[in-house]
Amino acid sequence: MTECDTAVIGAGPYGLSVAAHLHGRRADFRIFGRPLNTWRTAMPRGMYLKSDGFASNLSAPEPGATLADYCLENDVPYHPTDEPVPLETFIAYGLDFQQRYVPNLEQHDVTSVLRDGRGFRLTLDTGEEFRAKQVVVAAGITHFASMPQIVDGISPELVSHSNVHRDLERFEGQDVTVVGAGASAVNLAVWLARAGAHSRLVARASSVKFHNRPSGERRTLGARLLKPGSGLGPGAIGYVLGLAKAYTTRVGSGPLPTETAGPDAEILSTQGAEFGTTTGRPRRCGWLDTVVLRYAARLNGLTELFLSKLDVLSSFDRIPVATAYRIDGEVTEDWPMTQTEVHHAEPVYEYFDGWREDITGVTRFEDLPRAARAYVEAIEKLSGVPVTAVFVGPGREQTLLREPAGAGGATVTGGATVTGGATVTGKSGKA
Ligand SMILES: Cc1cc2nc3c(=O)[nH]c(=O)nc-3n(C[C@H](O)[C@H](O)[C@H](O)COP(=O)(O)OP(=O)(O)OC[C@H]3O[C@@H](n4cnc5c(N)ncnc54)[C@H](O)[C@@H]3O)c2cc1C
Repeated sequence: MTECDTAVIGAGPYGLSVAAHLHGRRADFRIFGRPLNTWRTAMPRGMYLKSDGFASNLSAPEPGATLADYCLENDVPYHPTDEPVPLETFIAYGLDFQQRYVPNLEQHDVTSVLRDGRGFRLTLDTGEEFRAKQVVVAAGITHFASMPQIVDGISPELVSHSNVHRDLERFEGQDVTVVGAGASAVNLAVWLARAGAHSRLVARASSVKFHNRPSGERRTLGARLLKPGSGLGPGAIGYVLGLAKAYTTRVGSGPLPTETAGPDAEILSTQGAEFGTTTGRPRRCGWLDTVVLRYAARLNGLTELFLSKLDVLSSFDRIPVATAYRIDGEVTEDWPMTQTEVHHAEPVYEYFDGWREDITGVTRFEDLPRAARAYVEAIEKLSGVPVTAVFVGPGREQTLLREPAGAGGATVTGGATVTGGATVTGKSGKA
């Protein structure tokens, strides 16, 4: 059986880009799939890309491989933001990219991947079997097409997923309803109308957006990294610092599962000076809620956490920390899916020893009372984020820096957007 170092499955934008870099490094690899197959078979002919020209590049190890370069060389109209990219242009660019940077593409499907010792055994649709030390799966989005349950049992002639429609001529004269609020749905509805169908778009959304108008605004590198124009989410950000209080507060109404009342609330509120800076409104106070903290850490990709106002907890004998919620009898450590569940959430507490000692003069983390250190270490564990500084008062000198306790930083990387929608067709106009 033959063997290679790396097998890449899929020849869409991601697979081809990975392969272009492997090829550039003369790595021992094989790549499989029909080039740009999703784009050539699962999107309506005539469609425009939602992504701007500047955000529609494949990645190669050398300059000259962008969509702009391709358009310039081939006399195709191009603008980074103001000229929509036709699907056919993107496909032509992708195929040209494949020929130039991934000449060894094998246009076969991989039918199975099995663990085999420290590597993998792969089988192709030709029946060939071979081994690879590592596998990159870039098999794309079409495998994730899903239809809402509500249409179960209706003939595929009448209801189908948008990704099975490339040529729309067969809908000429028919009444077609497209269900969805995203760019795919809008695109499809428009191209159906152009193909002579009576097309209608139904969306469970207050507005339907295809794209934002380019703002023309100049943005800093930081702003562009955090919120790239591609709509794919933040890119390669290696360091995200979060700041949390050692307890929880909330301004205004709404759920606050760990809210406390009576003397405890009084202590948190007065010792922590929990009054709105502008309005002077008292903030509602409660114990630390690590369900929220974990959720915030995950959403924001936190790699480090600073914990403030530890000194405010110095007057308690024992300190509750919410580690989970009990919602209608069920215990969960995860942030609930619905607002109603948040309203029903009761905290499940773990109790930590208090330290009952003034810590505002402490200048090194190691000099904090054992119980205070244990509290910080517990938060680190419960949040999954290393706590690298603790504040024991409002002064700068009251910041205690700390080495992360072995927890490594995470990298937040962008992913692919999966889009889709269902088309409902009918001749009677009552579909
Ligand atoms: C209607 C529509 C419009 C879109 N518009 C945009 C847009 O404007 N801009 C944008 O950036 N993104 C857009 N997207 C999203 C875009 O299609 C995906 O983000 C992108 O294609 C993902 O690239 P990929 O390489 O991961 O997967 P794909 O492009 O899906 O490629 C995967 C490839 O792997 C192959 N493959 C799958 N299984 C196997 C196997 N077992 N063996 C061998 N090969 C296999 C497939 O045939 C395919 O060629 C759109 C998607 C849709 C549906």
